[in-house]
Amino acid sequence: MPAHASDTLTDFAGLTREQAALRLRPHGFGEGKLRDLWKRVYRDLADPFSDAPSGDRKLDALREHFTLCAPEVAAQTHGGDGLTRKFLFRLHDGQTIETVLMRQAGRHTACVSTQAGCAQGCVFCATGQGGFRRHLTTGEMVAQIRHVARTLAADGERLRNIVLMGMGEPLHNYDAVRDFLAVVQDDLGIGIAPAHTTLSTVGLVPGILRMARENFPAHLALSLHAANDADRQALLPPARRWPLAELMAACDEYTAARREKIFYEWTLVGGKNDSDTQARELAALLAPRAGFAHVNLIPLNLTDGYAGTPTPPDRVQRFQALLKEAGIPATVRSRRGLDVAAGCGQLAKVAARHAR
Ligand code: SAH
Ligand code: SF4
Repeated sequence: MPAHASDTLTDFAGLTREQAALRLRPHGFGEGKLRDLWKRVYRDLADPFSDAPSGDRKLDALREHFTLCAPEVAAQTHGGDGLTRKFLFRLHDGQTIETVLMRQAGRHTACVSTQAGCAQGCVFCATGQGGFRRHLTTGEMVAQIRHVARTLAADGERLRNIVLMGMGEPLHNYDAVRDFLAVVQDDLGIGIAPAHTTLSTVGLVPGILRMARENFPAHLALSLHAANDADRQALLPPARRWPLAELMAACDEYTAARREKIFYEWTLVGGKNDSDTQARELAALLAPRAGFAHVNLIPLNLTDGYAGTPTPPDRVQRFQALLKEAGIPATVRSRRGLDVAAGCGQLAKVAARHAR
């Protein structure tokens, strides 16, 4: 049975170092001893809670109270390029989530899931089509990173970037995501830099404002996909709750507070949001924000639940050129990179089909 938290056992991976200090002190773990334990778990990527007894009486006694969440890997797939690897994890209650490892020389990236399913219901998204199951715990997010980091360590390599672009809406699970970042960014352990961390949101305005006000340790990517309310509402249900004016006001507050660029994600769907008019509309929306805006164009990945098609390459180029003419930097994501991650949810669907 893979390890997981229970009524009696606390998941160590669900604790920030500050929280762990409070919880472990009664068990005789002062600062130094906790540092040693933290390094074993997050630097050596060992599991002192279920490895053979250590001979350290206090450490071995901890097993009566703590465990380390390590979900079972139910399936793995490799991208055709050999650089992308998707892991499907089965959690203790049977929920399945995906994590993607994208290898690039010296710049390996993990794409992490923050929820099982998603409540936001975006029409082209496989995760959205399956509905919401539950929030992931901090420990379940940390476990994804520990697994990816161990996979890389086996080849003598290190994880450098984290993108919160897997299954789920990270700002709908704000506190657990914030604690997750505190764990994986901790310098004593995995030590991912905030500058190498990106959170992508469908645009939950209260969450964006919290990020701005709390100096959240990640860059912001906003899934914009449309630059007027009618088009946006047709693709993304949360757009009905937060109209563009309100959303962009939140983005402006974010930029003013942090003086850093926002990435605007634009999934290109043939005939839906890829016309010249729509490119000019996007350029007009971002023009006052030029210098603090970067657009990522991602041709649609096909999903079972949506009949749309990806924008053809010549139209993608034209859309990009119109943005560039207007002074808005735009990158086309190659289909072998982040777009594989954007298809998160698809592997879970395939696996569920096989499990039936
Ligand atoms: N919930 C967050 C993060 C996860 S989705 C968000 O929506 O931003 C990560 C990105 O993948 C988002 O920009 C999303 O719009 C995009 N995406 C989802 N399904 C896709 C598909 N079928 N093809 C291309 N991009 C997709
Ligand atoms: Fe959820 Fe993001 Fe998918 Fe929308 S695109 S359903 S917010 S995971």
